Amino acid sequence: MNKIKVFRSSIFHCIENSGSVIASYFEDGLMLVYDGRIVEVGEYSELIGKIDTDTNITSFKDSLLMPGFIDSHLHYPQYKVIASYGQNLLEWLDKFTFPEEQKFDNKDYASEIGNLFFDELIRNGTTTAMAFCTTHNTSVDTFFTIAKERNLRMAGGKVLMDRNAPVKILDDDNAYVDTKSLIESWHNNGRLSYAITPRFAPTSTKEQLRKLGDLLAQYPNSNDCKGVMMQTHLNENYEEIQWVKELYPEHNNYFDVYDKYKLTGTNSVFAHCIHNSTDEYERIADSGSKVSICPNSNLFLGSGLFQFDQLEVYDIDASLSSDIGGGDSFSMFNVMNQAYKVAKLGGYTLSPIRAFYLTTLAGAKVLNMDDCIGNFEQNKEADFIVLDLKATSLIEQRLSAVKDIEQLLFCLMTLGDDRLVSEVYSLGECIYTKMEA
Ligand SMILES: [Zn+2]
Repeated sequence: MNKIKVFRSSIFHCIENSGSVIASYFEDGLMLVYDGRIVEVGEYSELIGKIDTDTNITSFKDSLLMPGFIDSHLHYPQYKVIASYGQNLLEWLDKFTFPEEQKFDNKDYASEIGNLFFDELIRNGTTTAMAFCTTHNTSVDTFFTIAKERNLRMAGGKVLMDRNAPVKILDDDNAYVDTKSLIESWHNNGRLSYAITPRFAPTSTKEQLRKLGDLLAQYPNSNDCKGVMMQTHLNENYEEIQWVKELYPEHNNYFDVYDKYKLTGTNSVFAHCIHNSTDEYERIADSGSKVSICPNSNLFLGSGLFQFDQLEVYDIDASLSSDIGGGDSFSMFNVMNQAYKVAKLGGYTLSPIRAFYLTTLAGAKVLNMDDCIGNFEQNKEADFIVLDLKATSLIEQRLSAVKDIEQLLFCLMTLGDDRLVSEVYSLGECIYTKMEA
């Protein structure tokens, strides 16, 4: 029989109150978990009286317990493409990414890389992500099979491309039927969600986009189940934008391509969005579409700088992501660090509380999962991580001078990486413990 589990630590999570994001912090906190879900979180002194005196308490000293990170955009088959030198987006795709993705028609290879990918996510404290697979069905089956084995809440989908890519990774006539069958197999299968995944407008014909819009419409949100998601790229690189103009001359702008083919809305997530026009921002906001911000890959590929102030101007739901392998780090601490600097260059100061919001609760909102993950509200799933505040000598020394949670979080996002993550929990069960050095 499931028993109540009790965790004692400093505890932090973000909550939203009348549109404002607040850091809820308990220096000596207690979290009660039953059957994998949060029962209550609060001050130790207030909650200790509510549990039986013989209850076993798991205590973490010199630690911070917080929700698992949520990475709203990355590519699992690009695990080995990370750190590929010297190209911009379109050259980088041709030279490194497309050759690697061709290998994923092999189940053993997909499984080997899939397991390495999930190991790396977990080691970095990321408990939920939305991933591109490849055009091969086997890459999708492998991704979801591993996610299910590890009991993680994950979203993903088969990449769709029927032009402008090597023949070995182009879709054949079965792409639509295959995608539908993958949706039937994996969408809302336990903790899994399916995302229809056209790579980007240049690699799909109009006919393919039209069919995908029709498919998305077949799986809308309803009272008793979540609709299928859609993920793609938008406005990452100037050459890419020019290419879209040439391929789709009848459209007002890049976003308009997706919009006219009914691929926009509250279940749609657009990665990058660093060169959006005013019209595009307005239409993203009006359609309720979501944005995934990829500072690491935008810097790595020299694509440009995300305009953080525009999120507030247009009130768009957005969250941060690693964009592995254009991004160069699995660590969401590193992603927050880069985001802070990108924002600074745009004249915007990204507060640490907002940065942690963008990697937890905002990620859950972008993926339509905020009813079950993202913070420690009652009845949410107990996916959380424990950070070792003495992970390195520098971090220990720097934290000895901080005065409040905001300063502490800023130090973590600036100095932190996978060494901070000492334990990872999924549904209240420990799935990772860092080996002592
Ligand atoms: Zn991407």
